[in-house]
Formats: sequence, C-alpha cells, structure tokens
Amino acid sequence: MDYNMEELKDWMTKNKENSFRAKQIFDWIYKYTEKFEDMKNMPKTTINKLNKAFYIGLPSIIKKYESKNKDTYKFLFKLKDDNLIESVVMKYKHGNTICVSTQVGCRMGCKFCASTIDGMVRNLTSGEILGQIIKASESIGERISNVVMMGSGEPLDNYDNTLKFIHTINEKYGLNIGQRHITLSTCGIVPNIIKLAENELQITLAISLHAPDDELRRKTMPIANKYSIKEILEACKYYINKTNRRITFEYALVKGLNDSKIHAEKLSNLLKNILCHVNLIPINEVKENKLKKSTTESIKEFSHILIKNGIETTIRREMGSDINAACGQLRRSYINSNNNLLKGV
Ligand code: SAH
Repeated sequence: MDYNMEELKDWMTKNKENSFRAKQIFDWIYKYTEKFEDMKNMPKTTINKLNKAFYIGLPSIIKKYESKNKDTYKFLFKLKDDNLIESVVMKYKHGNTICVSTQVGCRMGCKFCASTIDGMVRNLTSGEILGQIIKASESIGERISNVVMMGSGEPLDNYDNTLKFIHTINEKYGLNIGQRHITLSTCGIVPNIIKLAENELQITLAISLHAPDDELRRKTMPIANKYSIKEILEACKYYINKTNRRITFEYALVKGLNDSKIHAEKLSNLLKNILCHVNLIPINEVKENKLKKSTTESIKEFSHILIKNGIETTIRREMGSDINAACGQLRRSYINSNNNLLKGV
C-alpha cells in the first residue's frame, strides 16, 4: 500500500518480473484482495517473490458503528503492529466523504481534542492512510469520493507521508479522487503550509483557528506558542497566491470561551481581506475536559455577525454524535474498556 505504480514497476523490473504485473496487483488490491495467492493472473513464482518481499497492509476492522439515521459510519481499525486508528464515513447527497487519521494519536495537545490526550504513538505511512479508504469503501459497498484529513493526527506533522497519500489517491489507476475533493486540515504548522503551497496542489487547505487572537488561542492550542495568527495568515495568503484556492477556517465554538459577539467581530476583522470561508463547529464535548458546546442561539448569532461582515460562513452539521464520532473518542473508549477488562474492573 505504500508503493505507487512507478515504485512497484521499478521493483518488478529489478526483480526480473514484467512491469505490467504492477498494474495487475493494484487492480486486485483496489478490488479488496488481501492475499497475493488470490490474484488469479499471477504466476506461482511471482506470488512467492511477492510474499517474500511484501505484505498487503490493509487494516482490519475491529469495530464498525452505524448512526441511527444511517448517514454516518465509524470504523475502529487495527494496523499490522496492533495500533488502533479510527475513520468516519459521512453520507451526503453529493457523495460519501471519509475523515481519515494521519497519525496514531497526536502530539499537538489541543485542549478540546480527544486524539491528543495520550500523545502521539507514531506517524501513519501513506499506505496506512490510504488503507482506511479502501477498507471503509469495501465495508459500506460504495465508492468514497471525498476525503478530509480531519481524523486523529496532524497531517503537516507527517508531511512526506501525507503528501504521498494525496498523490496516490489522486492516481487514475487507484481511487481517482480529484484534488478538489481532498481537504487537509492543520492546526497551523507554518513552514509546512508554505512547503505545501509550493506544490501548487488544488486541494482545500483548512486551518483550525478556533480563536481570533493569539492570547486566547494559546489557552487551548499549544501550537499558538510557536506560530502567531499573523504568521499563519501570511502563510495562507501565500497558499492562495500559489494555488488560487479558497482557504477554510475552522472555528470550534466553546461556551463562554470564544463565542461572544466581540470574538465574532474580531474574527471578521482578521479575515476580511482573505479569500476564505469560515466553518463554525459546535464543539463535540469530550468527557476528559470541561469545555461545553455553545448554545444554538450563540452559534447562530456568531454566524450572522460574520455574514454581515461579508465573510462566507457555514455551520458544520453534527453527524454521528450517537456513535462517538468525534476525533479520538472511539479509540480511547476502546483502549480504556479493554484495559479495564484486563484489570478485572
Ligand atoms: N490536526 C489537524 C486535523 C485533525 S483535527 C487540525 O488540527 O486541523 C480536525 C478538526 O477537528 C480540527 O479543526 C480540530 O480542531 C477539530 N476538533 C478536535 N477536537 C474537537 C472537538 N472535541 N470538537 C470539535 N472539533 C474538534
């Protein structure tokens, strides 16, 4: 799964096999075949060589949850080394969207987020990020047409694998997902936003802003001690310059913390000259912290102020809250309940 077509063709040639075998192998894998033995057009000798050199790293499904109204699926996957990751599939009229994880855990330390509570275990490889899509697609029996990197982990803290993943899912021989159907969400690692801009991709860049000034941002997001909002916005302008793409700013509303009219006015001022869109997120309450969701009224009021100030704004629909669909919640509850079982609690 970590190989792209070129790399697998190279391997074939170097190992005295026909390079067209690479295409055949990918055809099987994208049809959910998990063993080389099951690839019907593969000679025995090739299968033996393949088995010696590779394993097909699709994750296994440990749990699958379906929301009551059947519009959201949540998967808990086990990787080859037994690490657990989660992904969410959301069904929209315009197609299925998957929210993938890019790391096991996360080291960014945002106060509202369940993924980061136990820190980061390791980066996911590009194939492990891709594997979530293939496996979820097989399980729901439908194509997945949109990808958001908004699961556990910070994609720009795993830059090379994330970039390889984007290129791989974009490939015609694979999932053929257009770059405009891919969103990368980051807490704002400025040098890597600039690096990403230089690739001139057509993906959507989403910035987790969550506060209109540095002082408030530092209260929930440790990364704000490293990069200021001013630096992030400069990097965003560079991204827009290079790609002509509109930036999404994510703003999770926490009751009494960042959801007042003054915050909305400040945010409007900050973003008024930037080609952007604001996505307001009613915060998902996580039992490990005391942060509460803003009231529906204050969310609406916040959104009205932004719109009045000419900022395009949407409120994120809440899906799958009955199946712990917020980042990191499922993995944590599974690990915790299994630890409790082990301890006999
Ligand atoms: N590390 C990346 C991507 C993963 S998080 C990032 O920070 O953008 C995806 C989005 O979910 C981010 O905007 C993040 O701030 C937000 N998020 C995390 N925990 C949340 C919660 N409990 N409620 C609502 N949004 C949350």
